[in-house]
Formats: sequence, C-alpha cells, structure tokens
Amino acid sequence: MVMQPYQASCHCGAIKFSFEAEPFTHGIRCNCSFCKRRGTMVSLVPGEKFKFEAQEGALGTYQFGEKRAKHYFCKNCGNSVFSESIRWPGQYIVNLGCVDEVDTFALETTVFDGKNLL
Ligand SMILES: [Zn+2]
Repeated sequence: MVMQPYQASCHCGAIKFSFEAEPFTHGIRCNCSFCKRRGTMVSLVPGEKFKFEAQEGALGTYQFGEKRAKHYFCKNCGNSVFSESIRWPGQYIVNLGCVDEVDTFALETTVFDGKNLL
C-alpha cells in the first residue's frame, strides 16, 4: 500500500497536524474508560512524518491511571486530537474525526479492548 499525506486539525483550528499513512479502511474504537466517554474513532499512524503546530497555550495533555499514554487535546475547543502511548512507541494515535479527508462514518469499526488490555 502507498503512503498518503493527510492534514488534520481540531475544530477551532488552534491545533493542526499532518502525517503519512496508508489509506484508511477501518477505524478503531476503544472501550477503555476514557475512550468510551470521548467517543472518538482513532487509528495508529507512523511517527516519522508526523508534525503538529499548536497556537500558544492551546495544547493540553491528559493522563490517567498508570500514565502510559499522553492524550492531547485543544484547550480552546475541547477536541481530542492525538495521543502517544508507550505501548506503541514511534506511532501516534490520531483522532480520525480531525482528519479532513476521512469520513469516519464510512469506515468499518474495529473494537480495541482497552478496558481489559490497557
Ligand atoms: Zn481547537
């Protein structure tokens, strides 16, 4: 599969990010206590071409439990944007809803059992 460039942003545009990934055919929904509440569809993408820029003071970080992951969000509009986890070093977990070209409602859903695995 060929890597494609993607552009993404939070709702207000204070955080923008871009990366390269194979075209998305499915998204992941995780049933952990955090993802269950935020309701996002995510995907793991390679870190090599991942870049982000955030307006000053816009990037918030949330951690919980054993703090193995950093969940980034926009302090202005509240959107979850991406996460990093020591479980998947060198990769980013992106909120596919933030990605311009991705219709999350057209993707197949894979459930990740974060409730029992994280
Ligand atoms: Zn925002």
